[in-house]
Order: sequence, then structure tokens, then C-alpha cells
Amino acid sequence: SGWSDTWTWIDGKWHDGNPPIMGPRTHASWLGSSVFDGARFFEGVMPDIDQHCKRVNDSAIALGIRPTMEVGEMVELTREGCARFRSDQQIYVKPMYWAERDGPGIITGDPESTRFCLCLFDAPMAPADAAMSITLSPYRRPTMECMPVNAKAGCLYPNNARAMLEAKNRGFDNALVRDMLGNVAELTSANIFMAKDGNVHTPAPNGTFLNGITRQRVIRLLKDAGYDVFERTMEYGEFLEADEIFSTGNYNKVTPVKRIEERDLQPGPIAARARDLYWDFAHA
Ligand code: PMP
Repeated sequence: SGWSDTWTWIDGKWHDGNPPIMGPRTHASWLGSSVFDGARFFEGVMPDIDQHCKRVNDSAIALGIRPTMEVGEMVELTREGCARFRSDQQIYVKPMYWAERDGPGIITGDPESTRFCLCLFDAPMAPADAAMSITLSPYRRPTMECMPVNAKAGCLYPNNARAMLEAKNRGFDNALVRDMLGNVAELTSANIFMAKDGNVHTPAPNGTFLNGITRQRVIRLLKDAGYDVFERTMEYGEFLEADEIFSTGNYNKVTPVKRIEERDLQPGPIAARARDLYWDFAHA
């Protein structure tokens, strides 16, 4: 499998692979005006698919792009597309909008300029026993005055990519990125949690990072299961002394951290519980 595997829906048709659809003069390829979302089909379910479809519309609006798909219509299309795969495949679901024809200065919001596509990839999730190493990134999140950080905008992601690359070059799997004030924000493409003395802590959304749909779901599930979950300002030093650290994101759901800097950590019971609760919710 790879990033160009089937299927892609655009302009009313399903295409095999990666159809050439964006020209060199497209606003999005020139000036970065694209938004996307990421969701999952696995084991016959698509948890929170409606929220992911709504978020891509909200992301478009945040950039001034007029969405052209109703949420329900997009959910239906996703179901139709996933049915084209074998039912045991794990699919990454990526709806996207971009601005096609706007001029250099602005995005007009003209619906004639909006393009939409839905990309579905065969992309296996990490195995249940996967765990990662993390390190502190020298790079920071922009504030909402600098960039539309509440949107999943393509133009934000080269910053995440350079943080990831820098961490990989030092032998780590992922990077913990701080906000402009130096507080912990998130990983390069997932939210971050830690457990200490049986309680769960995670940075409170402050306009510098994505308040992930999986993050919000896991907080709800842990609270309903009786855990205290504190959303608050967090310093990096607290993570260095955590009992457990884990990430949340649509791609792999819940993933424990096995090493932070030079310190080994055991994937622990709270991360395992969060993962079980998520699977129960997904199949309910
Ligand atoms: N932060 C960033 C930067 C992301 O790209 C993602 C993945 N969408 C997340 C957090 C996790 O968000 P979600 O749970 O909505 O996938």
C-alpha cells in the first residue's frame, strides 16, 4: 500500500489511485490554500466520522473557502468509498478542499473556485503493542494570530514535518512541540496526555494546537470511566516525570510512549484502558 493507492472521488466519479487534478496555476499549489481531515474506517466502523466531515467544512470556512458538501453527504460518500475495499482493510479517510482559481491576494470564497475531493487509502494502523519514543522539538506552534491553527490547513504541516524530521534525525519517533510561551502543545500529528499518580493530564486547548476529535473522545471516555482528567497549562518537565505518556489521534487512536529523551517508560495501564475504552466505543 502507499499514498497513491485507491480510491479518490472527485467531480462525481471514483478514480483509481492518484489522478492528476491540481495544475501548476492552482491557488492551493501556489499559495497553500488547502484543508483536509483524517478519519478511519477499520473493523467495519468509522468512529466520529460525522465530526471529521464537519471539521473539514469548518477548516475550509476558517481559510475563507466556501464548502460545497453537506456533512451527511460527505459521510455517505465515505461509506460508499470504503465499501470499494475489502472489509478487513484499514482505510485512512481524507476529505480535502482547496481554492482553485483565486488571485494572489485573497481567497474569494466563490464556490466556483472551491474544489473538493475524498481520498481513501489502504493504510494499516499501528499494531496494538506499538509504542513510540519522543523528544522535545526546537520548533514551536504558531499562535492563532499567526496562522489558522484551529483549521487542519495544509499550510501548517511543513512546520510539523520539520519538527518530525529533526526528531527522527536524532533517533526519535516523534517530537513534542511547545507553544509560543513554551508550554507543551502537542506532538507533530497527535495530541499528548500523561498520567501521574492515577490521574490524567493533558494541555488545555489555547489556540495554538488542534483540539483533536480523538482527544475529546478519549477525555470523555476516561471521565465516564471514573478517571480525573485535568486539562491545563503543562510544562515539559512534568512529562519527564510522568508515570505514563500516550498520544491520541485518528490515525492510530491511542499510542503509548516508551521513551522520553533518555528515560525509558513502560506502556502503562491507563493508556491500555484508554485504548480499550476507545475500541468499545467504536464498536458500540
Ligand atoms: N494534532 C495535529 C497537528 C494533527 O494533525 C492531528 C491529526 N488530525 C491531531 C492533533 C489529532 O487530531 P484527531 O484526533 O482529530 O485526529
